[in-house]
Amino acid sequence: MAAAPKTGVKVVVVGAGFGGLTAAIECHLKGHDVEVYENFPELKTLGDIISFGANGGRIFNRWASGAVARRLRALSIDLRGYGFRIHKYDTGEVVYHQITPPDKPDAPVFNGHRGELHQVVFNYARDELGIPIHLGQLVEEYFEDAERAGIVLQSGEKVFADIVIGADGVRSKARELVLGYVDKPKSSGYAVWRAWFPNTDMIADPRTKEFCEKGDTFNGWIGPDVHFLFSTIKNGSDCCWVLTHRDEHDIDESWSFPGKLEDVYKVLEGWDPVCRAIVEKTPALVDWKLVYRDPLPTWVSHHARILLLGDAAHPFLPTSAQGATQAMEDGVTIAVCLQRGGRENVPAAVRAYQEIRYDRVRAVQKTGETTRDRWHKTDWAKVAEDPASIAFRREDWIHDHDAEGHAGDVFDDVFKRVTTGASDGRAAPLLPVGPAPPAVAV
Ligand SMILES: Cc1cc2nc3c(=O)[nH]c(=O)nc-3n(C[C@H](O)[C@H](O)[C@H](O)COP(=O)(O)OP(=O)(O)OC[C@H]3O[C@@H](n4cnc5c(N)ncnc54)[C@H](O)[C@@H]3O)c2cc1C
Repeated sequence: MAAAPKTGVKVVVVGAGFGGLTAAIECHLKGHDVEVYENFPELKTLGDIISFGANGGRIFNRWASGAVARRLRALSIDLRGYGFRIHKYDTGEVVYHQITPPDKPDAPVFNGHRGELHQVVFNYARDELGIPIHLGQLVEEYFEDAERAGIVLQSGEKVFADIVIGADGVRSKARELVLGYVDKPKSSGYAVWRAWFPNTDMIADPRTKEFCEKGDTFNGWIGPDVHFLFSTIKNGSDCCWVLTHRDEHDIDESWSFPGKLEDVYKVLEGWDPVCRAIVEKTPALVDWKLVYRDPLPTWVSHHARILLLGDAAHPFLPTSAQGATQAMEDGVTIAVCLQRGGRENVPAAVRAYQEIRYDRVRAVQKTGETTRDRWHKTDWAKVAEDPASIAFRREDWIHDHDAEGHAGDVFDDVFKRVTTGASDGRAAPLLPVGPAPPAVAV
């Protein structure tokens, strides 16, 4: 897709995760001048499995005439043959075999290594589109007034823009400016052990080699308040498992806490022995505490020149499999709103972004809790009667959504509401903006 005519809107994006990069790419493609500031000093293939639903694939597929999607496909799991097999945790029996529906050509689904997929998107933004991405730049402060917004880097340098997008993840600094207070995460009562490793030891063990010899596979074992998901990727060459379990520890969210295999073995006592046989092959694992945040009252700063996007605005549970995709939808939506509103209407465009996104994100977030609770409190007698009741649900209203098309369709109405305050009586009152920020000398 060729870049649109220049709009003159200067955008600063903080954070080069999937949310920030999508916002930057879409802003660039829609004619805004965009630069990205990111704390990490170099690109590293961090993380493990990440999912993008068809609503995310639709966005990727529009980049570089489908070339980005093709690169992601080569790195992603292919379950067209194997599907998803759901087991009862103790007997190991397959209670439901969920067939993978064929990909829609314009809206493919991707599951792969977060670091590998991220690299594809990062390289597209930086090397193909030429978007300036400033690495090793920790943003220490945000500021705004009615005319402009900006950031302060660790060096003390200030960068000014028409709008700043805070795509700075779960521990967002931008969120402090927007809310006027530090929003502490709460324990969700669950944590996830996660691991990714090559298949060498799996193939050497007759109990586990079947998972690496048939191309890609995806199996889940559902137990009381626990679920264990295991997949093999890239034609069975890489292995990945995640185990969601009860955990009341109240610590900050992070990707980097090491986990202990002995703790995993304790949870797997009495389980299908193949689960332990898989876990035994794990060289290292991460213990990721799943934190929860009440929905933020607003994602938009007082002057509506700083906004929150992605995890900074709305962290997701992994059971929604939508966290990264919703961050992408946010990025597409703000780019459309800025294009339609134009440089003279940036604050109204930012408020329109919030109006368009807020309720949908809340509804999708809820699905993460619903799936987890459905699995963790499984009634096995009911599953015997209706095996499909344990399936991982793919809701059409989530996956068929076209964030760009939708933003374009509703923008005029929302913009009118935001700029005039007028409502036809059916629409809910406008969402609030944040409190007045303390003055910063600029
Ligand atoms: C290292 C890492 C590994 C992850 N691994 C997985 C995974 O395996 N599976 C999974 O489902 N999800 C993973 N996630 C989370 C997942 O990527 C996000 O939930 C989702 O993609 C939404 O992305 P986001 O862009 O909103 O936030 P993030 O992906 O968290 O990106 C936020 C970015 O902002 C940067 N940043 C934060 N503060 C500042 C600051 N003050 N100044 C400059 N930059 C700043 C961070 O370095 C980060 O790159 C991981 C995230 C990270 C950062």
